[in-house]
Amino acid sequence: MRWQGGRESGNIEDRRGVSPAAMGGGIGTIVVILLAFFLGIDPRPLLRVFQGGAPGAAAPQQRERELTPEEKREGEFVSKLMAMTEDVWNEQFARMGRRYEEPTLVLFSGRVATQGCGLASSAVGPFYCPGDRKVYIDLSFYDELKTRFKAPGEFAQAYVIAHEVGHHVQNLLGISEKVQRAQQAAGSQAESNDLSVRLELQADFLAGVWAHHIEKQRHVLETGDIESGLRAATAIGDDALQKQAQGYAVPDSFTHGTSEQRVRWFTKGLQTGDVDQGDTFATDDL
Ligand SMILES: [Zn+2]
Repeated sequence: MRWQGGRESGNIEDRRGVSPAAMGGGIGTIVVILLAFFLGIDPRPLLRVFQGGAPGAAAPQQRERELTPEEKREGEFVSKLMAMTEDVWNEQFARMGRRYEEPTLVLFSGRVATQGCGLASSAVGPFYCPGDRKVYIDLSFYDELKTRFKAPGEFAQAYVIAHEVGHHVQNLLGISEKVQRAQQAAGSQAESNDLSVRLELQADFLAGVWAHHIEKQRHVLETGDIESGLRAATAIGDDALQKQAQGYAVPDSFTHGTSEQRVRWFTKGLQTGDVDQGDTFATDDL
């Protein structure tokens, strides 16, 4: 992937090597967040019970160690990726007659205190917190992508970020909130999970839309990149992450769709580049 040329994003919060400021919730909070994410429910009300209010923004803290040259390079890579998502989504929102509010990407190592989603550990994998409109990633996930999930390559890494930014797009378009309300009204866990799957597949689709447009703007793709993205789409469902976190997977709680579905929706976004083609909620054919 040709990413070196462009600008860096101004929306990066680099908290690597910094311990979370608010540790009040501890392990109980992490469990609540994990459960809430897997069950597709909003963890915020629960967290308020646990913490007596959401923790404030982590105050800027001294890094406990220097970043390695490899970490610096990775930081530059994701910063330029974020800039590429900004370029595409600013354009797409303008086309829809809307304004794109750029999300922040938070880099952390180990654990992180969020504003809207409590305390999280890197075991949950990269995630988007709608409450504070930030994407969180521990870049050690990229090593797992390479070794455990057998999805090496920069475009696989780009896909991960583009998927999370896709959740931000859904948030801005009001889709996440609608889904959340529908889930609260859902009669069964299966129904609620089905909505989660549709939301996730749409984020995959939006990652594909991003890839379509950034390729048009900048010709970033090289031979093998798409395959690398598809391998990531195949490898990192909630099922895979869940299995890794707890050692086994519970099919009923899968909320990302099958690998085949993920690949299909990503590909549809990539080929059409058309946001309007991604209504995963209106189709019987996921
Ligand atoms: Zn997702």
